[in-house]
Amino acid sequence: MEKKLQALKHHLVEINDLRSAAALLHWDQSTYMPPGGAAARGRQIATLSRLAHEKFIDPAVGTLLEELMPYAEQLPPDSDDARLIQVTFKDYERAVRVPPDFTAELSNHQAAGYEAWIAARPANNFAAVRPLLEKTVELSRQLADFFPGYEHIADPLIDFADPGMTAATISALFAELRQELVPIVKAITEQPVADDSCLRKHYPEDKQLAFGVQVIKRFGYDFERGRQDKTHHPFMTKFSLGDVRITTRVKEHDLSEALFSTMHESGHALYEQGICQDYEGTPLASGVSAGVHESQSRLWENLVGRSWGFWNYFYPKLQDVFPEQLGSVPLETFYRAINKVERSLIRTDADEVTYNLHVMMRFDLELALLEGKLEVRDLPEAWRERFKADLGIVPPDDRDGVLQDVHWFADVVGGVFQGYTIGNILSAQFFDAALRAHPSIRDEISMGEFGTLHGWLKKNVYHHGRKYSVPELIERATGSKLTIEPYIRYLRTKYGELYAL
Ligand code: ZN
Repeated sequence: MEKKLQALKHHLVEINDLRSAAALLHWDQSTYMPPGGAAARGRQIATLSRLAHEKFIDPAVGTLLEELMPYAEQLPPDSDDARLIQVTFKDYERAVRVPPDFTAELSNHQAAGYEAWIAARPANNFAAVRPLLEKTVELSRQLADFFPGYEHIADPLIDFADPGMTAATISALFAELRQELVPIVKAITEQPVADDSCLRKHYPEDKQLAFGVQVIKRFGYDFERGRQDKTHHPFMTKFSLGDVRITTRVKEHDLSEALFSTMHESGHALYEQGICQDYEGTPLASGVSAGVHESQSRLWENLVGRSWGFWNYFYPKLQDVFPEQLGSVPLETFYRAINKVERSLIRTDADEVTYNLHVMMRFDLELALLEGKLEVRDLPEAWRERFKADLGIVPPDDRDGVLQDVHWFADVVGGVFQGYTIGNILSAQFFDAALRAHPSIRDEISMGEFGTLHGWLKKNVYHHGRKYSVPELIERATGSKLTIEPYIRYLRTKYGELYAL
């Protein structure tokens, strides 16, 4: 059995090599590739994805796994090998249901969708991507149908990103959160909007990038095992545990853009860099779900990076970098500016309080598209209506409306947004648990020290990769099930002070 397990691991590493090569091509496509490379690049990524998929669904893998599953039962239930066999078996069962031709078609379509979106968004041209999006909805439905027995057609798609969750459980969670959030949003937005003009002066790009790098090095992001480049829509990607990259975008008249997206992506990267080295090349060597992943980006971006303590330490340093722009701006003004709450158009720019309303809206639109209750041609109008109802404003065009997010154009429709809000909820739950274990963390943050927090997260979350299921991981790390309580308490405390609620 030991030999069979070694054979399986060897095979899995080769599959991971193919996937990493595809990820590298995708990283290049989103950073340095000239536009002329687009068509061939889509095909190249599709080819590698197909080869990886074919190699994984090889019947020999199925035979190995069937022989190894009883062996896994005999191993200690929490051993790495037992969990690796079980996680791989679940992945395999899921992969064999999707034909390689379909995977290639979807991958090709996604590459074409991404290129079309890159052109359509600045041109405010929804009509240009509409047929592609219609096909995405169709392909998303087909993908779900490879997994019959679901209650809601979105369930299999949600399960890819956030295993164990369904349209029903998320709808219930979101309803609970919504009930708490809406009164907070209302109370805040009835007050005058905070003045954030100090963020909108001219901030040269190179200085912004250098400051961001300084911050994430302090967080613990390891540049020996990563790098940062510029892109349209920031993301984190990994080619091995020793090469975890992030991307950012800079606006010279908006200081918060690069600063917070750098912290955000570094949170994703800290997670991947912190995974147990023994898992390298196996299915255990990645984040466990979209929601848990997002909990780490949001924890570093918001609970740390938008906290008073953090800026108590870093603001004088930022003032040194930008003396003309910030020299005469008090810390309190800056702190209010970076925590400004308002009804706004763009999800990625939205504040912590209103952000989840943007996500819930997309989640519900996805369900309606998949159910066939909403046609793609009616999507821009449905977007505007829901925006007005939830946020009290209407996007002036599709560029800042339905075209703003890349997800539906470069991924699937269904399961791609709920992770952001689950991440917000979990960011507070994990942070709360870390503070209970080490009450000194708050003081350390105000001294620019993050070692204790990073160490706790590494030990309790990052190290495990996909070894434990999401509920197991949450319970082991925090001592309780997923709960909105710490998140609501966090928002009430922070914004209660800021807005004297
Ligand atoms: Zn993220």
